[in-house]
Amino acid sequence: MKKNIKDYNLDELKEEFIKLGEKPYRAEQVFKWIHEINVKSFSEMTNISLELREKLEKEFTLCIYNIIRKQESKDGTKKYLFDVLDGNAIETVLMEYKHGKSICVSSQIGCKMGCKFCASTGIEFVRSLTPGEIIEQVLAVQRDENVKVSNLVFMGIGEPLDNYDNVMKAIKILNNPKGINMGARHISISTSGLVPKIYDLADENIQCTLSISLHATTDEKRSALMPVNNAYNIEELMKACKYYIEKTNKRISFEYALAKDNNDNLEDAKQLVKLLKGMLCHVNLIPINKIENGKFTKSTNENILKFRDYLNDNGIVATVRRELGSDIDAACGQLRRKNL
Ligand code: SF4
Repeated sequence: MKKNIKDYNLDELKEEFIKLGEKPYRAEQVFKWIHEINVKSFSEMTNISLELREKLEKEFTLCIYNIIRKQESKDGTKKYLFDVLDGNAIETVLMEYKHGKSICVSSQIGCKMGCKFCASTGIEFVRSLTPGEIIEQVLAVQRDENVKVSNLVFMGIGEPLDNYDNVMKAIKILNNPKGINMGARHISISTSGLVPKIYDLADENIQCTLSISLHATTDEKRSALMPVNNAYNIEELMKACKYYIEKTNKRISFEYALAKDNNDNLEDAKQLVKLLKGMLCHVNLIPINKIENGKFTKSTNENILKFRDYLNDNGIVATVRRELGSDIDAACGQLRRKNL
């Protein structure tokens, strides 16, 4: 089977080129064609000799995704269902913000975490994506829309910290100034709370932002929503978050999806203030997207604003996330589920 050339960082690619009897600087040229210029075939690499292009063609694939389906929202959000070339499909979302274009990528095919509010729940975990398969989501969207994506969030299907090594490698390749050149500061990782990996990330010394899907303030409620809480409870999670803040001096973003009559009352807001008091953090309140046949429904606007105001009045910075793509099933897993 051919190797995915997008799985290689520049140093590894240079080693591959040496094995092929080529000069390492050729690897830099090819890296630029792949990640910066974003070509779809080796034949487009016009400053590379025909002989080398043929060698590359024999050894590697450029892993160019096919678009199975693309949905566009009135607010400019675009949601892609990509064929990852082995019969599986993943979702990627492109969103428009004032500060630029942001992409939400998947890190796995399916997910093991089983969060009850997530449309991916019930979709069997198949496998983790390789670094190149993560990166190709950015490149495929950039090619299709002829745009430059400035920000990236790991908030699509999958638990990124459950695919830790590949996600870290993808981030480092994305950072490379000779390629896509996306600064780690513009990359955000969202986790359901894999505590040991939060410690690893704190020690990693990269500048990306960490988001924690919290969604409840008591173990009873959180475990009912997110089975990961049975393995790592809120106390352990908060301890890891404090370590992360201490080590990186970076603010953590806590995601809190408000579900009607579940976690959106004033008592929950009070608990949340108690839990996060004194931490360098921000709370991102998410009006939950209604999931087809799902148990949870969206909180009322009145409750959402009351919740936000209570947090802000009590020293916790909180904002309500703009609902993007709500007319095109932009909650993770929904597009994929429709195609199963
Ligand atoms: S919310 Fe994220 S971590 Fe939880 S099941 Fe869905 S994809 Fe997995």
